[in-house]
Amino acid sequence: MIITGIGSNGGIGVTTLMANLFIKLSELGKDVYWLSLSNLVPPVFFKKELAWLEYDAVLREVPLWTKNNCKFCDTCLKACNCGAMARYGEFYVIYSELCISCSACVYACKKNSIQLSNKRIGFIEQSNLNHRIFRVNLNQREIFSSWHCQTIIENMQKKLPKHAVILIGFPSGFRELWADLIQLSDKIIFYTNDIYTWEMLYKSISHDQADMILAVNSDYYDLFIERGYSFGFAIPHTKEISIEAIQGYAVSDEAYQQVVKELAYTLNV
Ligand code: SF4
Ligand code: SF4
Repeated sequence: MIITGIGSNGGIGVTTLMANLFIKLSELGKDVYWLSLSNLVPPVFFKKELAWLEYDAVLREVPLWTKNNCKFCDTCLKACNCGAMARYGEFYVIYSELCISCSACVYACKKNSIQLSNKRIGFIEQSNLNHRIFRVNLNQREIFSSWHCQTIIENMQKKLPKHAVILIGFPSGFRELWADLIQLSDKIIFYTNDIYTWEMLYKSISHDQADMILAVNSDYYDLFIERGYSFGFAIPHTKEISIEAIQGYAVSDEAYQQVVKELAYTLNV
């Protein structure tokens, strides 16, 4: 089961909530895993002895140009609609970070001078302290896209036990990937203070895609109640909670932990 935390506000809200949920589900004996779709993991997972071990390569089929037989006719270049190919004199370069692996250039070349090949574009790492915690490290110029989302999540699902619960940590801000994440997830925990973003999202998705669970900073909760969203979870928000989260501690606030516990039971995993 894939459970993704999406936050619309930036900051630590959704990450802290998901990290504390991971700890709670672990305590409850669930077969739970953490997968950060970037190299950032919540501070609570960091300890002095932490080291990252390579777990799996992220491979992508991208075209490889070779000079053999090439007539420098530029047909391949013209076939690429992504600007992923460039010619420098008698040399073609393919920028894998722009390539969508559509193979148009491969089919366009009648001289077999371009072939698809697997390129290592990054890797997945595993924490040496907790083998259930993973993060993704892409090559420097690689731009995280729908393809990365889908490939990485689906590959991890295949590698982990069938009944694993995988919590996806996702950096706020990549709104263009929300639709992909909703499509790939069984449940979404959407953390927001913004009623308009919530309404736009809630009304625009088809609810057989993923269960949407609303989590609202408690300072804004009344506003959501007034608009009829009383099913949301009010997440306590204090300076002390933020400080603990930033300093790498599990939140000790009892009210916060109570909400995390209710959330864990609601997920029914
Ligand atoms: S289409 Fe083939 S032959 Fe023409 S430039 Fe591209 S690689 Fe070379
Ligand atoms: S595979 Fe598609 S996107 Fe990639 S370089 Fe070839 S034509 Fe461009």
